Amino acid sequence: SLSEKLQNVFMRLRGKGRVTEADVNEAVREVRLALLEADVSLPVVRDFIGRIREKALGVEVLESLQPWQQVIDIVYKEMVALLGQQQAPLNVASTPPTIVMLCGLQGTGKTTLAAKLGTFLKKQGHRPLLVACDIYRPAAIKQLQVLGEQAELPVYALPEDQRKGPPTIARMAVEYARQHANDFVILDTAGRLAIDDELMDELGQMRAFVQPHEVILVVDAMVGQDAVNFAEQFHKRLALTGFVMTKLDGDTRGGAALSIRAVTGVPIKFIGTGEKLDAFEPFYPDRMAQRILGMGDILSLIEKAQEAVDEKKAAALEAKLRENRFDFNDLLEQLEQMKKLGPIENLLKLIPGVNNKMLEGMNLDPKVVERRKAIILSMTPQERANPTIINASRRRRIAAGCGQSVHEVNQLLNDFERMRRMMRTLIQQVPGAKPNNKLP
Ligand code: GDP
Ligand code: MG
Repeated sequence: SLSEKLQNVFMRLRGKGRVTEADVNEAVREVRLALLEADVSLPVVRDFIGRIREKALGVEVLESLQPWQQVIDIVYKEMVALLGQQQAPLNVASTPPTIVMLCGLQGTGKTTLAAKLGTFLKKQGHRPLLVACDIYRPAAIKQLQVLGEQAELPVYALPEDQRKGPPTIARMAVEYARQHANDFVILDTAGRLAIDDELMDELGQMRAFVQPHEVILVVDAMVGQDAVNFAEQFHKRLALTGFVMTKLDGDTRGGAALSIRAVTGVPIKFIGTGEKLDAFEPFYPDRMAQRILGMGDILSLIEKAQEAVDEKKAAALEAKLRENRFDFNDLLEQLEQMKKLGPIENLLKLIPGVNNKMLEGMNLDPKVVERRKAIILSMTPQERANPTIINASRRRRIAAGCGQSVHEVNQLLNDFERMRRMMRTLIQQVPGAKPNNKLP
């Protein structure tokens, strides 16, 4: 998956001081491959990657491990933006009925979608009418009627002996809807195996006849990259207002959604996620981006990055302890980290040789921690870096500064000294630790 690959790239970056252009190129190459694997079309990938690279290079590197998350964040946000940022609602008529025309190649799921959309609208209190405009196969009319019965929705269909062209049927159906107070008309049309002029002309004529509020192309997610070509051609001929992507229930990543949206600029409005009538939902760009990127993994990657931060911090902490350089600045940083990283115990446990027993007796109650932070913040930089200079008058000043008693300041200083000593002892016990001559 993309995240595994990105992880590898980022693992290699670990420990380097900063991210170079070469690093970004490498990360971007993995993103590129992943998008292609997810069926995003080449020109769209190129364009997307161009933007990512630009933004990734512009990232200010504050912390050697930060860029992992930053690149992922950039990719994710850019993808959400490209997918339309927000859920695009149906266009509705100011005077009902709202006319929704469904079109697409054969087998993409138009007839199923007519019933799904009808069900969805009915649940919202609307009175949709399904219309059988696919007259070339008698089975198609029957299929819509069966689905309509299942969904308890009215279906408008002409008997076989009253032959009319689909554009005319559509117009008659709209008239019928007006008379029967149906506020939505859903036109199910015929599809072909490939795009041909006859099909397009017929759809174009229907569009002109009834002036639908929505002209929706139904796209099968499993078609992959070819979907973009179909989408472009339909859009050129019919001026689409939206897409529905069906069959997103398999393991297709749905990268075609990204391509289609990027190439046509037309929003994806709904998705179909199964054969059942309730397997249908509005399209949410953020969820789709997560799907394309395999975001479940990405969330775990961010966790891993966090672990690495912990390890790195622990290593730095260990070095300081070894060299007896641990001061109030370090303690303050540790206390601040607690919020982000969870209990300080976990951080301390990363130090080789530290176990639960050794951490007993340290006061790690969050309220106490907040008070202690306030004390440290009242110290001058020199005092923080060199706690031994904190004499009685300095203690009084610090206590006044943070609104706590001198007793509390003393307690912190005592605990700090005790902690420092304990940690130093621990470190000395770690196998392989070098004896430190500076220690008492
Ligand atoms: P049409 O030719 O465009 O009208 O397509 P149909 O509505 O007849 O659907 C073709 C096939 O795809 C049928 O077997 C449907 O049950 C199936 N289908 C439609 N939508 C979905 C979907 O979202 N997921 C899955 N798995 N199958 C679907
Ligand atoms: Mg059909």
